[in-house]
Amino acid sequence: MLRLRPKSLGELVEQVLQAPHGLRYIAGGTDLTIRIHLDGLDLHLADITSLEDLKGISLYPHGYRVGSTVTFSRISASNHLPGGLRAMASKVGSPQIRSRGTMGGNVGNLSPAGDAIPMLMALNATMEVLQFQEEAVIPGSIPMGDMKPGPFGVLPGPRDLITGFSIPRWDFSHFGKVGSRRTVTISKLSVGCALDRGGKRCRLYLGAVGSLPIRCGEAEDAIVNLSGRELLAELPAILSRAVERAIPNRASMPYKREAVKALGLELAQDLVSEGGV
Ligand SMILES: Cc1cc2nc3c(=O)[nH]c(=O)nc-3n(C[C@H](O)[C@H](O)[C@H](O)COP(=O)(O)OP(=O)(O)OC[C@H]3O[C@@H](n4cnc5c(N)ncnc54)[C@H](O)[C@@H]3O)c2cc1C
Repeated sequence: MLRLRPKSLGELVEQVLQAPHGLRYIAGGTDLTIRIHLDGLDLHLADITSLEDLKGISLYPHGYRVGSTVTFSRISASNHLPGGLRAMASKVGSPQIRSRGTMGGNVGNLSPAGDAIPMLMALNATMEVLQFQEEAVIPGSIPMGDMKPGPFGVLPGPRDLITGFSIPRWDFSHFGKVGSRRTVTISKLSVGCALDRGGKRCRLYLGAVGSLPIRCGEAEDAIVNLSGRELLAELPAILSRAVERAIPNRASMPYKREAVKALGLELAQDLVSEGGV
């Protein structure tokens, strides 16, 4: 089986165009190596962790760029990144998983329990992608909120590479999750929220209630329009109703509609204490 370790994007493009079908990218390997071992897979692999273009965190006047192979440890330690993104990264798995696992791998894996996805959707992030079409390689971008799962996860083609994420600035952002300690806190439920107080804009997504996170407009309206006191009283029930609507027939619904109330209260408290509302 082929093992590639390109040193630059140019080298990667050359190698991928010549590689046999079925080549997979590997970053931290915290999802893929488990699949390889559990399913006894023998895959052609391209290790993308030496690519400088994918490793950086950059700060711009209107936002940030986080390369796809930036690990959760680095995100949680980067004080200038949005608070919600850092909180999300600090809650992933365990220290060992955070030091290897990457945001590109989280989105590439597209697990319903993936923590980065609801947070990136709430932040209205855009995924940067290198699209391989026949012999042409075209840089493209996909708004996280428009992601649709298909045969290649969220990517349009089997050889497409996530290079990074562009994230606009927000006044306030928050991430919360309910997980099980026994399974190293993999999400049973999560919430990502971003608020722009000046423009009165809010985006809120619930994760682990379907194949992709769901947007909750009723909660967004409440955050923009209600007083702090009203929000503390009403947000838990609003999120609970959203869970009921999202997964009415799931066995986990009665548990999740109760558990999400704690996430709603935590978010409302954070909004009030941070002066978000
Ligand atoms: C014990 C344990 C606990 C965990 N806890 C959590 C948790 O709390 N929250 C959570 O969200 N996840 C958790 N995970 C899952 C995993 O750690 C994350 O999904 C992580 O972000 C995967 O990143 P990676 O770099 O290791 O991906 P890899 O395993 O390297 O790759 C995963 C998939 O994405 C593809 N891929 C990787 N990078 C790219 C790219 N740049 N472009 C295109 N495709 C790409 C790969 O081909 C593969 O299909 C846990 C896993 C374990 C084993």
